[in-house]
Amino acid sequence: MYIGSTRISTNGKLGRNLRKLIKKRKYREMATIDPDFADKLEVTSTHPEWGYKIWGEYNPPMKLSIHGHRVAVDFDICIGDGACVDVCPEDVFEWVEFEGHPASTKKAAPAREDDCIECLACEDDCPVVAIKIIPM
Ligand code: SF4
Repeated sequence: MYIGSTRISTNGKLGRNLRKLIKKRKYREMATIDPDFADKLEVTSTHPEWGYKIWGEYNPPMKLSIHGHRVAVDFDICIGDGACVDVCPEDVFEWVEFEGHPASTKKAAPAREDDCIECLACEDDCPVVAIKIIPM
């Protein structure tokens, strides 16, 4: 990649951080997960298979709200980028399909959030800031 006339390697840790920064700049005008969502929203249901909490209005496919109580993912913001799935050392996430959602048709669900070790890598890498880790 070039910045001006200077060639910058996108390999290694520096390159990874640079790619993250570029992605975040691209999406910086978009809404991000509300860090205080748990004080503002009611728990409206629990996931039938994985048991995590779902907060606020859930009316698929258009309104999906926030999923998870330790690893909270705002499904209305998630663009299905997959950075969290790739970076998670504990394999917390599972893809779920939501045909017709305007942001993306697949979302990273915190299926095994009880396995989270709070490394914050997913929070850090998500280009649209759709994830909030709630410390135990
Ligand atoms: S904080 Fe770390 S362990 Fe927890 S879900 Fe995110 S990437 Fe996985």
